[in-house]
Amino acid sequence: MRNVLFVASECAPFIKTGGLADVIGSLPQTLNENERVDVQVILPLYDEISDEWKDQMDFYTSIHVPLGWRNQEARLYTLRYNHITYYFISNDYYFSRKGVYGYYDDGERFIFFSQAVIEALNHLKRKPHILHAHDWQAGMVVALAKIIQPIKDLKTVFTIHNLKYQGVMPIETFNDFFQLPAEHIAGMEWNGMLNCLKSALFHADTITTVSPSYAEEIKDPYYGEGLHPILIERAGDLVGVLNGIDVKEYNPLIDPALSVKYRTSRARKTENKLILQERLSLPINGERPLYIMITRLDEQKGLHLVQHILEDFLQEDIQFIILGTGNEEFEAYFADLGHRYPEKVVSLLTFDENLARQLYASADFLIMPSKFEPCGLAQLIALQYKTVPIVRETGGLKDTVQPFNEITNEGNGFSFPHYNAHDLLAVLRYSLTIYRNSDHWASLIKNVNKSQFSWKKSAQEYAKLYDGLVMEYA
Ligand code: ADP
Repeated sequence: MRNVLFVASECAPFIKTGGLADVIGSLPQTLNENERVDVQVILPLYDEISDEWKDQMDFYTSIHVPLGWRNQEARLYTLRYNHITYYFISNDYYFSRKGVYGYYDDGERFIFFSQAVIEALNHLKRKPHILHAHDWQAGMVVALAKIIQPIKDLKTVFTIHNLKYQGVMPIETFNDFFQLPAEHIAGMEWNGMLNCLKSALFHADTITTVSPSYAEEIKDPYYGEGLHPILIERAGDLVGVLNGIDVKEYNPLIDPALSVKYRTSRARKTENKLILQERLSLPINGERPLYIMITRLDEQKGLHLVQHILEDFLQEDIQFIILGTGNEEFEAYFADLGHRYPEKVVSLLTFDENLARQLYASADFLIMPSKFEPCGLAQLIALQYKTVPIVRETGGLKDTVQPFNEITNEGNGFSFPHYNAHDLLAVLRYSLTIYRNSDHWASLIKNVNKSQFSWKKSAQEYAKLYDGLVMEYA
């Protein structure tokens, strides 16, 4: 048996700001179907996690978390949900705050979390063979387990879900807690600052990222976010394993968020569109193509391209709905657009899981022209709801969406290679011509209906990777 402890900063359904939560919330379940793997998950207990969940948790134990002269207390809670054991680390000072991220001391908060995880290991009934840490917030746990408090025989895997966010802080912040020995500074600093993500890249036994294409791209300066030199150095230990989605959770046939459930019926899917149009005061017309975006409003998601050409595209007989929160500049832009095109555009500047599902179900197309995209889940969810993705050929988008080809009738979406607004406009216009050609549209939808990205294959790859690690060092 390979005992694995996932360390992460978010996990659906407890707390979610993006795709990381979907992955941490669903991959362990598929992994645990393999009788050789047993995954548990450890997370911070944020105030933001609803009382409904907190009421179901059991107190497990109290732990001391030594942080320099500040000996912090933490309480460990546990919850069994969907056959997975979850642990939550509670500390009023660091986690009793509104929201999840965005505080001036986020670096310190997640160093505390990492150190608390190390302390918690001494108390867990089931000791992990492998610590599998995800993204920068959990990155420091890898370094701590290797050099500050080495744990015998423990192997580490670090998964990059997004290289852009690295957890950077002054080296003094860390030294204040741990007195980093001089010989270890080089492995943890980058450009004179302590870097949690780089520390994990340096110290992890194996590094994974969430699609094969992104694993290649990040060795290039354009995608490497400044860390490409270390990724090149560690290329032999870096693998891309494509994310899946929970196909039971995202299933339009049983999704309680949908007014009309469906498997592949376009007519029933369109009924969702009509209900949504009425609710959002758009002209009610099932044939009018509906384009959506469901996204963090961040430059990464290609929003500058969208800004550049959307008004041109709105000259067509279409509707466009965006659901997203984030950058104020983009929020203001979409709010304004919604006011100026009340018949065509709705901007929903909020985070709402049910609404997201209704949009996936109602739309004809999902636009996702990302500048970079480690894997991307929105396009996979769209396909699951029989909505056609329109993507830029990068990272996981390239690995999951094949452009429709009128001659061979192959392809499950539309794509364009270069980060260029007019290429996006051209492909949007092309999607309309295919939509209006019933033969081509039928062929495309047939391919969409066949696209499925469950966790099965990827979970096998992770299990093999765990096996290799434990055997190699056993
Ligand atoms: P990222 O992790 O970079 O934000 P992904 O495509 O991997 O992007 O995952 C985004 C996830 O968050 C998807 O499940 C998407 O449906 C969801 N999501 C993004 N924005 C919103 C929102 N405003 N409301 C509800 N769900 C959202």
